Amino acid sequence: MKTEDWIKNFERNLPEGFPVVAMGWPEAEYGICHENYINYCSDAVNETPDGESAPLLPTFEEWRRKERGEISYDLGFSQDYCDTCGSFPGIRYAATAMPSDLADKDYVALTVCEGCVLYIANGETPVDCED
Ligand SMILES: [Zn+2]
Repeated sequence: MKTEDWIKNFERNLPEGFPVVAMGWPEAEYGICHENYINYCSDAVNETPDGESAPLLPTFEEWRRKERGEISYDLGFSQDYCDTCGSFPGIRYAATAMPSDLADKDYVALTVCEGCVLYIANGETPVDCED
């Protein structure tokens, strides 16, 4: 495949109106939100054995920082085709398509292959492309 055709295919597969792609997903896609923080705190209190004091709970920011530290862009093996280039099932990574107006908080979570990761991260097209 020619490099320009690969790029056209990539861009054609992006959701309409979401031309900007970045690696990773927004925190909410990983379940990092206030509701889950409250559930975490609630579970910690509810699991306190009889007669013992409730555990010291982290602040929302402390919990969020810890959860963020456990995020991986590597999603592991998937049976699905790459969202952006359509390549066969394989290891997938988290990416996000956003509208050109980044003030708009809407987004589309994507799962993409390693070739697309390199293109998203630094504009490199797959090595098997011809010029
Ligand atoms: Zn791909």
